[in-house]
Amino acid sequence: MLKGKVAVVTGGTMGIGAGIAKKLHEYGATVVVCARKKAPTKYFFVECDVSNFNSVQTMIKTVIKKFKRIDIFVSNAGIYPFVMLKDMTEQQWDQVINVNLKGAFNCAKAVVPYMLKQKHGRFISTASIAGVSVGFPGLTHYCASKAGIMGFTRALALELAPYKITVNAVAPGAIKTPGATRGITDEKQLQRTIQAIPEARMGRPADIGETVAFLASDASEYITGQTIVVDGGYTDE
Ligand code: NAP
Repeated sequence: MLKGKVAVVTGGTMGIGAGIAKKLHEYGATVVVCARKKAPTKYFFVECDVSNFNSVQTMIKTVIKKFKRIDIFVSNAGIYPFVMLKDMTEQQWDQVINVNLKGAFNCAKAVVPYMLKQKHGRFISTASIAGVSVGFPGLTHYCASKAGIMGFTRALALELAPYKITVNAVAPGAIKTPGATRGITDEKQLQRTIQAIPEARMGRPADIGETVAFLASDASEYITGQTIVVDGGYTDE
């Protein structure tokens, strides 16, 4: 389905990003992953901090030099440190916005010129149900950043539609990843969360990977500007 395509996944060293990288590879793409720290991965790794435009641009140039093109770009890297607004510093707000929302801008700004030259491309972001239809206490910055991704996706899709470049997002529900399970110490609360999911399980990174692979493929060429919720029925959007 993706044979001959070159894909970049930010935050691809673990969690959802690793699941996306694995699926894109299984469907035939050549996969590049990036993150701030090198971690064991079987894919080509490039160090990159998505909140820093120069770092993103250097990463993109490295990939282009090696693979000559980028067909699929998955803007997935994101952080979600819990802190209530009353305790939140301006720096904490800025950090989440800079990684989750400005990170998508940095990535699009750096990669779109190459996609325009190719007259083909897929730009896919990892959003969240936290930006679509549910709020979470302690995540005002995060919910705002993910709602922002949806608006960014809709607008950029219109700009790029004439050039056969689609722009979409996937909004996961609760997915079992190092980031999501890091803060969970209360087993009872985890069980309550799972029971609130109609499928009665946390999602797997592969569940998101399958949706991203579809959006990356030619089968989805008439879909753009959309955010697809993948949450086991947790929300009814
Ligand atoms: P995770 O397990 O914490 O993994 C995050 C990945 O992003 C790591 O590879 C990390 O590597 C990288 N990363 C973090 N900051 C970065 C930066 N500034 N520049 C480049 N890479 C960076 O997180 P996850 O749970 O898989 O979440 C991935 C995405 O899914 C995020 O956008 C998150 O908001 C979204 N999401 C997750 C869930 C969930 O339940 N897990 C639900 C909805 C949406 P380094 O630390 O080495 O940089």
